[in-house]
Amino acid sequence: MPNLAALADTLRAAFDLPFDEGQALERTRFRTLLDDPRSKALRYAFFAEREAARVPGLAKDTPRRAIARVAVIGAGTMGGGIAMCFANADIPVTVIEQEEAALTRGLDRIRGLYDGSVKRGSLTAEARDRRVALIEGAIGLDRAAAADLVIEAAFEDMGVKREIFGTLDRVAPDAILATNTSYLDIDEIARATTRPERVLGLHFFSPANVMRLIEVVRAEKTAPEVLATALDLARKIGKLAVTVGVCHGFVGNRMLARRGRAAERLLLDGALPHEVDAAVTGFGFRMGPFAMLDLAGLDIGWRVRKATGGSAPIADALCEQGRFGQKTGRGFYLYPEGARAGVRDPEVEALIAETAAAAGIARRAFSAEEIIARLFYPMVNEGARILEEKIALRASDIDVVWLAGYNWPAWRGGPMYWADRIGLPVIVEALDRLAAETGDETLRPASLLAKRAAEGGGFTG
Ligand code: NAD
Repeated sequence: MPNLAALADTLRAAFDLPFDEGQALERTRFRTLLDDPRSKALRYAFFAEREAARVPGLAKDTPRRAIARVAVIGAGTMGGGIAMCFANADIPVTVIEQEEAALTRGLDRIRGLYDGSVKRGSLTAEARDRRVALIEGAIGLDRAAAADLVIEAAFEDMGVKREIFGTLDRVAPDAILATNTSYLDIDEIARATTRPERVLGLHFFSPANVMRLIEVVRAEKTAPEVLATALDLARKIGKLAVTVGVCHGFVGNRMLARRGRAAERLLLDGALPHEVDAAVTGFGFRMGPFAMLDLAGLDIGWRVRKATGGSAPIADALCEQGRFGQKTGRGFYLYPEGARAGVRDPEVEALIAETAAAAGIARRAFSAEEIIARLFYPMVNEGARILEEKIALRASDIDVVWLAGYNWPAWRGGPMYWADRIGLPVIVEALDRLAAETGDETLRPASLLAKRAAEGGGFTG
C-alpha cells in the first residue's frame, strides 16, 4: 500500500526539510493518496460496513430481547468457535453434544485455542481462565432450557436439523432459535417448530472466533424483534452482521459456488491449478481457490454434490482416489510430510488433460487477466441475481460479505464495486461470449446486470 511509503517520506521531511517545505511535501503526498483508486475503494468499504447495519423497515425502537445466556448445539469446528465468540464478550455459553467423547474433544480444542493466544501473548492467562470458565459443556438438548438464544451448529443435514429444532421447541420454549447452516432452507427448519417467528439463521464463517462476518438470515416468518436482537448481539460480540434472505448458500457461498464452477471449467479449458491460484493471489486474495479447497477438504463439496446431483469432474475424480486435500496429504496439490504449501502434482495435471480430452475440449493457455475475468464475472452475475431476488438489501452488502467473510482485497472494494470499475458492458459482453463458448447458459447475464449495463449505470453508485 502506497500510504506506508508516503508516511515514511513525510516523517523524514519533518527532520530534513524546513517547516514550509515539509508541509508542502506532506500536502502533495496526501493529495496523491486521496486520488488513488485504492484509497477510494477503502473509503467505499468503510461506509459500506456502516450502511450494512441499517435494515429498511426495521424500526429503531423495535424491542430487543435480553440475551443473558447462549447455548450452542455441536462442539465441532463451528460450534467451538461460536462458543468462544460469546465467552470473549463475557456472555456465558453452554456447549451441547450428544456424547461425552465429542464434548471433551470440542472443549479441549477451545482450551487449546485459548492457550495458543496466551502463548502468542495476545491474551493474558487470567482472561483465558475467565473465558474458559464461561463455557460449560453439557450432554443432551434439554440442557438448552436456560438459554435465551440457541445456535445450532450440528451436521449439515435437514433431518438432523429438523429433529434438533423440534426438540428445542419443547425444551427451550422462550428462546430464539438460530441455525448456522451453510446451505439449507431455514424456512423448512423453522417449520419443525411451533414458532417460526423466533427462528433465523446466524451464519458464522470459519474460523468463527476469528472471522468478523455473520450473515444474519431473515427467514420468511422471522419477527422484527428477533432480527433486531440478533443484529444487536452480533455487534456486542464484535461481529459485522449483514442481513440476507433465504436461498441456497445465502449471499457468500452462493457466489462462491459460481467461482468454484468457473475454476473447474478453467482447468478443462487449459489452465492449471497453480496458474489459477497465482492469478487470484496476484489479484490480492491470500489464497487461491484450489489451495482453499485443499485446506477446507475436498470431501465436503463432494458429499454435497453427491446429495444434490451436482458434478465437478476434476474434484470428483480426486475424491474418488481418496485425495481430500491437506488432511490426506494430496488434493489438487501434493503436501509432502504435512507441508502447508502445496506443490504441483504431475498426476493431477495429467488427470486434467485426460478429462478435457475425453470431453472433446481443446486446451489453451490463459493469462492471469483472463483467469480473473472467468472466475469473477460469473460471481458478479450471481450477485446481480441475488439483488434481483432481494436476497441482499443492497449491492454494498454483497461487497461487505466478500470483504469480511472471504478476504476479498479491501483496496478493491468488493466484487460489485470492482465490477463497476471494470464497466458493466464489458462484463455483459464477456459473459455472453463465455456462455456461447462453453455452452453453459447459466452464464448469460442476469436481467439486472444487462439492464444496468444498458442504462450506463452501476451497482454501487
Ligand atoms: P462438525 O462436524 O465439525 O461439528 C458438528 C458437531 O455437531 C459434531 O461434533 C457432532 O457430534 C455434533 N452433533 C451432531 N448432532 C448433534 C445433536 N443432535 N446434538 C448435539 N450435537 C450434535 O461440523 P461443522 O463444520 O462445525 O459444521 C456445523 C454446521 O455449521 C453445519 O451446518 C455446517 O454447514 C455449518 N458451517 C460450517 C462451516 C465450516 O467452514 N466448517 C462454515 C459455516 C457454517
